Amino acid sequence: MLKVTNLNVSYGAIHAIHNVSLEVHQGEIVSLIGANGAGKTTILHTITGLKKATSGEVFLEGTNLLTTDPAKIVTLGMAHVPEGRRIFSQMTVKENLEIGAFIRGDNEQIAQDIEQVYSHFPRLKERYKQAAGTLSGGEQQMLAIGRAMMSKPQIMLMDEPSMGLSPLLVKEIFHIIQELNHNGMTILLVEQNAKMALSIANRAYVLETGNVVMEGNAQDMLADDKVKKAYLGL
Ligand code: ATP
Repeated sequence: MLKVTNLNVSYGAIHAIHNVSLEVHQGEIVSLIGANGAGKTTILHTITGLKKATSGEVFLEGTNLLTTDPAKIVTLGMAHVPEGRRIFSQMTVKENLEIGAFIRGDNEQIAQDIEQVYSHFPRLKERYKQAAGTLSGGEQQMLAIGRAMMSKPQIMLMDEPSMGLSPLLVKEIFHIIQELNHNGMTILLVEQNAKMALSIANRAYVLETGNVVMEGNAQDMLADDKVKKAYLGL
């Protein structure tokens, strides 16, 4: 579904991403793990068109995303749940969800889809009139995921959904990600929380200073001594 081949990305003289290749197949959860600064966010930003690549290819189904206008990429069925959630804090929960549907004009269907988001996240329903900035960190993450669901994507790119959340909320968010996947959503998940990210993924890639240094079955990686030592703190 998503195929990245020999991707290189630079910030001026800093060569941040080196010949990265990765694939996400339909129905999978694929995790991209690595330390702070390894280049995970840069890869997501390049896929979604927020950052220009120096070379390489990014294909979503048949479309070359590197030559596609970022605004058009959303209409191709890919949604981005950004790092730090980036919700609109002055607007209400409901208004944030409506913004997620901005590419669509079918108001009746939008209202139904908001109800569907509420069925995944009852706490958002309880707080629908509240300014989004007054939600807790976990609820804001739920809102960011719910907003992405509103564009009816085939694939979601999630950047550090566990960031800043308590262990209990991290569990809840990962459970929601699994549930979305069981309902058919394909997911590319970027995480520093390697243990959780590997435990729900089908496959994973390990990134170190802009290079993929390991890839494979996520369960195998969880059991791998090198991964345990370097990334799981075991
Ligand atoms: P984090 O978990 O902190 O988001 P990351 O794995 O997502 O880390 P990136 O944010 O993609 O890593 O950063 C990869 C490299 O690119 C780092 O060396 C970083 O310093 C550099 N970098 C990122 N953004 C910029 C920028 N705007 N200008 C210059 N260098 C940048």
